[in-house]
Amino acid sequence: MNIAIKNAYALIGGKIDRHSIYIEKDKIAGIDKAPEGFRAKKVIDGENRLVIPGIVNAHTHSYMAPMRNIADDLPFMEWLTKGVEPVENSMTDEDAYWGAMLAMAEMIRCGTTTFNDMHMHIFSTQKAAKESGLRAVLSRGLVGDKYNKSDRRITEALKEMSEGDNANGRITYMLGPHAPYSAGFDYLRGVADIAKEQGLRIHMHLAESQAEIDNLKKEQGLTPIEYADKAGCFDVPFIAAHCVKVTDSDIELMAKKGVSVVTNPASNMKLGNGFAPVKKMKEAGINICLGTDGAASNNTLNMFHEMSLLALIHKGVNDTPVCIGAEETIEMATINGARALGLDNVGKIEEGYKADLAILDLNTPSMVPRNSLLSSLVYSANGSEVDTTIVNGEILMEGRELKTLDLEKILYNADHMMERLGKA
Ligand SMILES: [Zn+2]
Repeated sequence: MNIAIKNAYALIGGKIDRHSIYIEKDKIAGIDKAPEGFRAKKVIDGENRLVIPGIVNAHTHSYMAPMRNIADDLPFMEWLTKGVEPVENSMTDEDAYWGAMLAMAEMIRCGTTTFNDMHMHIFSTQKAAKESGLRAVLSRGLVGDKYNKSDRRITEALKEMSEGDNANGRITYMLGPHAPYSAGFDYLRGVADIAKEQGLRIHMHLAESQAEIDNLKKEQGLTPIEYADKAGCFDVPFIAAHCVKVTDSDIELMAKKGVSVVTNPASNMKLGNGFAPVKKMKEAGINICLGTDGAASNNTLNMFHEMSLLALIHKGVNDTPVCIGAEETIEMATINGARALGLDNVGKIEEGYKADLAILDLNTPSMVPRNSLLSSLVYSANGSEVDTTIVNGEILMEGRELKTLDLEKILYNADHMMERLGKA
């Protein structure tokens, strides 16, 4: 559908000014000047509106959304074994679908337009992503010790890629070895070989906790970063979730190999893992992106919450207010994520880019007065200001009403699923 957004505030090239944006099919076809012969099917009045690039959640597990607020404030192993695992192990494919649908509804409501997801139930997240209209990058989580060609999980991952519906290119795939403690060296090397052969990216949890570092050092004499590199994983574009506990030489290695890092501040704090050295990694030239991780360890998928945490934590940790600023934070939550995911024309408001946008209502206390709209996005907005979400030129929410999803049905199913799984 051709859409014209007339005379709104818009974040373009790091600056917020008044602009008109013209959308033709799935792309931004013009800024301030409509393309020749353009006829808008819909006109959005930009008065009191701020248009930003759609937000990219670069690391999550959408099927886990119903696990929010279970087993909180407990030691890590108790959280995992008494909270997360019993639910995870009894979830059916249909449960995972409704879990993912709950996540999609939450993401659309907070202006997220792309998410990078590691999951266990093939086709469930894919079906939900297709129906929601969101842009998705999916990896089936891979866990194993010795590599063999007929490994069940690898076979499933490749099956999802080859047999699933990619929603006209809106859904793409990576390989997702879970973590150094769940993917043995031989297995990981096998996964890296497949990635090289098939031109796939790799998405993996790395260096999340001190226990992971200590065990791997004892067993392999390597840091998680060295481990992944030695297995050949960094020979393809690699996206590393967490990197909380990394050494200076790990940082140097990741910078050299062009690894992208996804920092997940809420999840790292909630599980008592600390803070990733974002300032240092950024100074080394690493592409830093932002993610929420799953709702079991966050407990929301609200990237506005995450942006605020990211900017504030690193000022505190580094004892300086001049550290990760608002503009940089927004870049980490948009264009940097898109770059890491191999989505070349996503993450910016620019002619020729995909029409993935979030439109915020400025007529709300958190956005007034308009001293700095850029600052308000990171330091005072909370996500509820998002009025309209557009992906691939399709309106997924308008006036806070979801257009592609039946919210009532999703909430009912997610709630009843947890009652059945004994955790409500
Ligand atoms: Zn994760």
